[in-house]
Amino acid sequence: MEYEAIIGLEVHAQLLTGSKIFCGCSAAFGADPNTHTCPICTGMPGSLPVLNRKAVEFAARMALATNCEINPFSLFARKNYFYPDLPKGYQISQYELPLAVNGSVEIPISNGEKKRVGITRIHMEEDAGKLFHDEGKPFSYVDFNRTGVPLLEIVSEPDLRTPQEAADYLRLLRAILQYLEICDGNMEEGSLRCDANVSLRPVGSQTFGTRTEVKNMNSFRHVERALAYEIERQHKVLEEGGTVVQETRLWNPQKGITESMRGKEEAHDYRYFPDPDLVPLAVSSEWVEEIKQGLPELPLQRKDRFAREYRIPEYDAGVITSSKTL
Ligand code: ADP
Ligand code: MG
Ligand code: ZN
Repeated sequence: MEYEAIIGLEVHAQLLTGSKIFCGCSAAFGADPNTHTCPICTGMPGSLPVLNRKAVEFAARMALATNCEINPFSLFARKNYFYPDLPKGYQISQYELPLAVNGSVEIPISNGEKKRVGITRIHMEEDAGKLFHDEGKPFSYVDFNRTGVPLLEIVSEPDLRTPQEAADYLRLLRAILQYLEICDGNMEEGSLRCDANVSLRPVGSQTFGTRTEVKNMNSFRHVERALAYEIERQHKVLEEGGTVVQETRLWNPQKGITESMRGKEEAHDYRYFPDPDLVPLAVSSEWVEEIKQGLPELPLQRKDRFAREYRIPEYDAGVITSSKTL
């Protein structure tokens, strides 16, 4: 049977604010371990988070640049789970009522055409800390400098069909974030990370198959290779009459395979509830208008303008505008 892949991406982008999302600690990358910490971002009892206005402004820039509707009211929620890089035992995120919904971007595809990719939601959350595993030691190290660094989570509709389209979409998101000057887009340092969801269905079918999610990839190449592998793997399972198990998998770049990590978690596993320490976030239409007026020319607009004004091929204009520095 012939199958078609269905792909949706969840992209995490670290925001370039000076300070963290709920405290005054520096959000800068690369300092000595645990020097950018305080009672709030290490979750000491009785400490209280206060929302960083700049983080909201940056999030709203991305929401507007991707044609989202900004909710006048949104909520912060506690996503409860235990992990040693999460000192509070919960991550502050948005769940019901995210900052922005219903957006879209257009990715360039072959022969000068464009393809629309829907954006389900963009929400704000805090990053977790970082663990270091030293093979030779019977313990691990934790660095809380990253704890509380503001993140955007950008969730796409399952509109992507090939690993190449997924990578192109990710490249466009990175370019937009860089043009907006809200994220450095450095995938090696983890400022931009991607979870890829993929399922197969028989060509012509209207319903979706069971998906798997490949977590936390930090390069375009990894995303493309992991998706290609996963499509191949699911294809084999289906051809042999088996069923795809809904689960979270990890990409192993050394072996060139994805490996099962855990069963898929459900929202109810996290016991989401509105964070009682934070008031609802109200974004006025005046502020949204002000942010909209301040948006720069975006990559695809600039590409079209270069092609037109300088009469250069679309392809060349695309290369020149693919990153802001270039
Ligand atoms: P979760 O947080 O549980 O992973 P979401 O429902 O927000 O959940 O979906 C995450 C991503 O999975 C979205 O990008 C969505 O487009 C994608 N997705 C949902 N269903 C499928 C499917 N059947 N095949 C491929 N991708 C899917
Ligand atoms: Mg997911
Ligand atoms: Zn702090």
